[in-house]
Amino acid sequence: RSRRRWWKVVRVLDEFEEAASTPVGRLRQVVDAMAVEMHAGLASEGGSKLKMLLTFVDNLPDGSENGIYYALHIGGTNFRLLRIQLGGQRSILSHDVERKPIPQHLMTSTSEELFDFIALSLKEFIERNGNNQARGKDLGFTFSFPVKQTSLSSGTLIKWTKGFSIEDMVEKDVVECLQKALSRRGVDMNVAALVNDSVGTLALGHFYDKDTVAAVVIGTGTNACYLERADAVIKCQGLLTTSGGMVINMEWGNFWSSHLPRTSYDIDLDAESQNPNDQGFEKMISGMYLGDIVRRVIHKMSLESDIFGPISSKLSARFVLSTPLMAAMHEDETPNLSEVAKILEETLNINDVPLKVRKLVVKICDVVTRRAARLAAAGIVGILKKIGRDGTAGITSGRVKSGKSGKMRRTAVAIEGGLYLSYRIFREYLNEAVAEILGEEIAPFVSLKVMEDGSGIGAAMLAASNSNVD
Ligand code: ADP
Repeated sequence: RSRRRWWKVVRVLDEFEEAASTPVGRLRQVVDAMAVEMHAGLASEGGSKLKMLLTFVDNLPDGSENGIYYALHIGGTNFRLLRIQLGGQRSILSHDVERKPIPQHLMTSTSEELFDFIALSLKEFIERNGNNQARGKDLGFTFSFPVKQTSLSSGTLIKWTKGFSIEDMVEKDVVECLQKALSRRGVDMNVAALVNDSVGTLALGHFYDKDTVAAVVIGTGTNACYLERADAVIKCQGLLTTSGGMVINMEWGNFWSSHLPRTSYDIDLDAESQNPNDQGFEKMISGMYLGDIVRRVIHKMSLESDIFGPISSKLSARFVLSTPLMAAMHEDETPNLSEVAKILEETLNINDVPLKVRKLVVKICDVVTRRAARLAAAGIVGILKKIGRDGTAGITSGRVKSGKSGKMRRTAVAIEGGLYLSYRIFREYLNEAVAEILGEEIAPFVSLKVMEDGSGIGAAMLAASNSNVD
């Protein structure tokens, strides 16, 4: 009997692995779909699930910036306060960061309560870090949710993602909310740049390396942006910028294509989420969701067999298994997988499982993470394809002109976010897949560069490079 139960579990795993598989051929279809959707999103408003938002950032920092700047960053889980001192010549003389978790209740409260908390935190941060230099200073504000910008320093919230839901904020001007809260708290600062986290990351990447053309964030949620030619933004005819370029915030978490390897677990996760039918790519890739996909697979297995013992009620609780815990199981290097056993016990109330079951759990984590990382990699190559940096531009009628890399230029992509930074296996799978999709001739021209805290530091830099504008 016991063999038969094990066989049932193996079948669940096999089916999952098959449905979630990402052979390079499928990844290339995702690459093409990404490039096509980017075109469609630039062609007309609502032309694609990719919003392809204008950021009004047309000049990226070049390293010449000077002075002390502050930035605020609201992401998904953490809230960050930063102070940087720039010394020109690509140097950051000092850089202080403070992280605070956003209290859960504020994520679903009112805009006033949320921004009051932020303004107060900034006030305290300034008092601890160079009080007298902050007065009247320009502030960079990283707000990692979809915003329709009307200028570099104004924009309205389109919708919430990542578990936030504050109804009264939707369609409100985000900078105005912050600016008002700052004056209520007596903080004399000017919000000079409102940026998405990926835009901040691009700014920092460009500060260090002018070949940086795109940025990706993979943390609680995921997003990407890149530098586009202004004349390619068809939906905004006659868009004039001093540089001839414009950073486009893709909001790629909402990307969708029939080529994405979707499983029954993804369908259930989406249906039970706060935003069904929304952020489909994000739900397969980002830190908020990966642990929960693993939980769903374990749950299914425990319904089919008793290898996990009696069915734990914890297994039906959404988000009990967080992605950092999933990563800890995946990266467990103890010979008996004792870390896996401990997490199963403490988090899911599953006790005394034999080694082969622990190995099975590691395998589930591997399937989920590998798919996520490889899809993110395909997304990145999709962006490169759109701007002709994937090495295929030199190909005419299927024939390669003087070698595929003949026209290829050095290209850098800035990456940040807790998932990429802290989950080693995820990072390795992603890097590997980018190289695999590009092929060995082109891959050496493309480098992925980690920009830790880039989203915040970059926002401060954009505040710096735009502080004289208005
Ligand atoms: P945010 O996206 O919330 O602004 P981060 O970029 O720091 O902030 O990302 C935090 C997210 O990264 C967490 O919600 C978690 O999903 C993921 N993460 C953080 N640390 C780890 C880890 N060690 N292993 C796997 N995932 C992690």
